[in-house]
Amino acid sequence: MAFQGDVSEHVRAMEVGLGSEGSVVEVRRGGIVPGCDGIVLPGGESTTIARHLARTGVGDEVAAAAMAGVPIMATCAGLIVISKEIVEETRFLPLGLLDVRVTRNAFGSQRESFEADLEVAGFDSPYRGVFIRAPAIVGWGAGVEPLAMIEEVAVAARQENLLGLAFHPELTADLRFHEVFLEMI
Ligand code: GLN
Repeated sequence: MAFQGDVSEHVRAMEVGLGSEGSVVEVRRGGIVPGCDGIVLPGGESTTIARHLARTGVGDEVAAAAMAGVPIMATCAGLIVISKEIVEETRFLPLGLLDVRVTRNAFGSQRESFEADLEVAGFDSPYRGVFIRAPAIVGWGAGVEPLAMIEEVAVAARQENLLGLAFHPELTADLRFHEVFLEMI
């Protein structure tokens, strides 16, 4: 999804992960998502991204793809957009795909941006997450596996074909989450 946010960083990281085995398409209008094998919703500003998704009909296409089993990696604002429930009042409705409850800007103003070494399920060494005004997953349904925690909140979670990350995997050279996503595809 290339409406807003850190799109070019995601494109670059995914191109490195893909090598010659696929290509990245920047989506800014309807009609493209139905032909995609995987979907990335980047970080940025969730209100803006959600507004574009609704305006163009791409949000409905993403929801249909998710229901059909197409893998989705949603990071930071993207995680907020695909969540089932947002704790705060917002000017948009989330897509309701990932069965989680998120709170926006969860780590407070003094820590709006920080890095943290995360213990991630399935990784054999810590993963350094870059958090920028990050959301947190404060509740999740039975079908959701939390993959990494900071204290009592989850910052990475998977539900079948949906991968939600509170941090920015496209801003580090460690592409293990991209590899997980490409494996899902
Ligand atoms: N706090 C932002 C929002 O609510 C998300 C921040 C980010 O994506 N880096 O949209």
